[in-house]
Amino acid sequence: MPAEVSARNRIAIEVDRALCYGFGDCVDTVPAVFALDDEDTAIVLDPDAAPVDDILDAAQNCPVDAIVVYDEGGDQIYP
Ligand code: SF4
Repeated sequence: MPAEVSARNRIAIEVDRALCYGFGDCVDTVPAVFALDDEDTAIVLDPDAAPVDDILDAAQNCPVDAIVVYDEGGDQIYP
C-alpha cells in the first residue's frame, strides 16, 4: 500500500518510476492529477483533482501500466 488514501476520491495512486518513460499521456488526460518531474517521470499532484473514472482512464492509457490505483481498503483496482 503506497500513499495515503485521498480525502475525496478515497483512492491512493502510485507511479512506478522504473516503468514510466515520461511521454506524459497521463498528464494529457488529467493534468490536475499528474505532472512530469524534472526527470520526466510522472508524479501525482492531487489524487482528488479529477473524477476517479478519469484517473482510471489515465491509468488504462498508460502504455506501460506504470500507474497503480488502490481503493481505500488497499486493494489494487488498476491494473
Ligand atoms: S502515461 Fe505512464 S509512462 Fe507516460 S508519463 Fe504517465 S505514468 Fe509515465
